Amino acid sequence: MAYLTLKNINKIYPNGFHAVHDFNLEAERGEFIVFVGPSGCGKSTTLRMIAGLEDISKGEFLIDGQLANQWGPREREIAMVFQSYALYPHMSVYDNLAFGLNLQGVDEDVIDERVKKTAAILGLTDYLDRMPRALSGGQRQRVAVGRSIIRKVGVFLMDEPLSNLDAKQRVTMRSEITQIHNETGATTIYVTHDQTEAMTMADRIVVMKEGYVQQIGTPKEVYFNPVNMFVAGFIGEPPMNFIRRPVQNGCITIGGHSISLQPKLGDKLSQYEGKDIVFGFRPEGVVLGAQDGACHISGQVELTEMLGDNANVYMNIDEDHSILKVTPHEIPEMDSELTFSVPYENVYLFDAVSEEVIC
Ligand code: ATP
Repeated sequence: MAYLTLKNINKIYPNGFHAVHDFNLEAERGEFIVFVGPSGCGKSTTLRMIAGLEDISKGEFLIDGQLANQWGPREREIAMVFQSYALYPHMSVYDNLAFGLNLQGVDEDVIDERVKKTAAILGLTDYLDRMPRALSGGQRQRVAVGRSIIRKVGVFLMDEPLSNLDAKQRVTMRSEITQIHNETGATTIYVTHDQTEAMTMADRIVVMKEGYVQQIGTPKEVYFNPVNMFVAGFIGEPPMNFIRRPVQNGCITIGGHSISLQPKLGDKLSQYEGKDIVFGFRPEGVVLGAQDGACHISGQVELTEMLGDNANVYMNIDEDHSILKVTPHEIPEMDSELTFSVPYENVYLFDAVSEEVIC
């Protein structure tokens, strides 16, 4: 049985704003779930409803099969790490970690053992006597994480815990949080607007937009099988390229080449005849040159960006803009004419009206 169950959860704020619509999720014990989506899509609101910090307007929330809508935050046995971590400035790292357990009246010996174990997991053993002001941002964030994992809880909720860290610290903390999650075995729900964090940390990703869940799946599923243009454009960096064209005689014309849609659409082809369709391909899903049996596209090179192990090539294709990812050895001349191929297996077609994936 799922450990956390959200059944048609809705949030309507007192001002009437409907922030979350029919959110459904079953999280298994020990699973690492990431909520991802642009600012304002309802990630934090959903997390706060799980934590018991926000009322659930409609729907059912179950913990281990028991209806928990009315349970207070403490009864839920949930620990939460927020974006802005407030440590007690006048207490050492040791005391900051021990604080919650002290309040609960836990035995001194047990506290000491747990503080030391937590510090070891987080690499804070040498800093236990330090005051927060004498720590780096990353170390402070680790203490904040430590304060929540020191309590033995079934669920960790994390709301953009890395957003105050610089890029390098974020990468380090990303793998540390994954490790902590694996060691504690708790169910973790992690909120971020950063798709790289979602892809690297999650067992399953929940992609949200404007209060609606768009797709729930493993990182591979949302990357390889996005259900719509929103998910396809949100997951992946640089994002998937989209080119909208009318279907004429079973083909679309892009960058001077006629591309047959028969291999992708088969029997469905006639449904789209005369209508617009969206041709999608990922920057990394192309091969330079005209490859046999693939879709050929030509355009003008507008800009190239050398990134080290790869490079981005910005293309103007009949006034549509696309990005290709190439190796550093393949970087073309600026303003040159470039032909590339998209193998059919790397092509995604979307309905131009519903924006849902066709195939
Ligand atoms: P961010 O990444 O910016 O934190 P988010 O996805 O976590 O965004 P939420 O904070 O859940 O988004 O907010 C969802 C929507 O609900 C937003 O449009 C927000 O303005 C609105 N909202 C949040 N709190 C309230 C409130 N107390 N009353 C009314 N509307 C609210």
